[in-house]
Amino acid sequence: MKVGVLALQGDFVEHVHALRRIGVEASEVRLPGQLGVLDGLIIPGGESTTIGKLAIDYEMMEPLRAFGREKAIWGTCAGAIFLSKDARRKQPLLELMDITVERNAFGRQVDSFEVDLNVPALESVDPSGSPYHAVFIRAPLIETVQEDAQSLATLSDGRIVAASQGHWLATVFHPELTSDDRFHRYFLEMIRTN
Ligand code: GLN
Repeated sequence: MKVGVLALQGDFVEHVHALRRIGVEASEVRLPGQLGVLDGLIIPGGESTTIGKLAIDYEMMEPLRAFGREKAIWGTCAGAIFLSKDARRKQPLLELMDITVERNAFGRQVDSFEVDLNVPALESVDPSGSPYHAVFIRAPLIETVQEDAQSLATLSDGRIVAASQGHWLATVFHPELTSDDRFHRYFLEMIRTN
């Protein structure tokens, strides 16, 4: 299995390392021609407006949309924004996943925090069901899930922080920054069953 990480901007290196730690062949992706050999793609955290602008400059918008219609994509944080249909402001989006996101939803004062989440979906890769320690950095929120998109995890007040829809996955936190590899393994399962 080959998994690419979109390497236009953001913390793509950490995702490549996380994938290699679990034995996956991982590559950095910057050009349309690099998508063809991949079974799945991760879009990392960073700055979604910058990722969008660079995707236009590198003529990646349509190739990424075409890839996403067939293959699995996982967006983390800025990547989740870029994957969404609606960020409630004008910026380039892939407009694949039926979620509405609110950028920088946690404000400046608390723009970074860590919290333990209950993520029942991860029991498919690790039956222990232990809490998932999530790192939020200037994170968006998933305001609503539409169509057949579904929430995978919420904060204790019910606000959605992870969602999936078919072969697409969105997390507003950063699984590549901790040693807990369950989300990366969960994404591999999505690729295998796609
Ligand atoms: N605040 C960034 C954005 O709106 C996302 C931050 C992140 O990816 N850690 O794009």
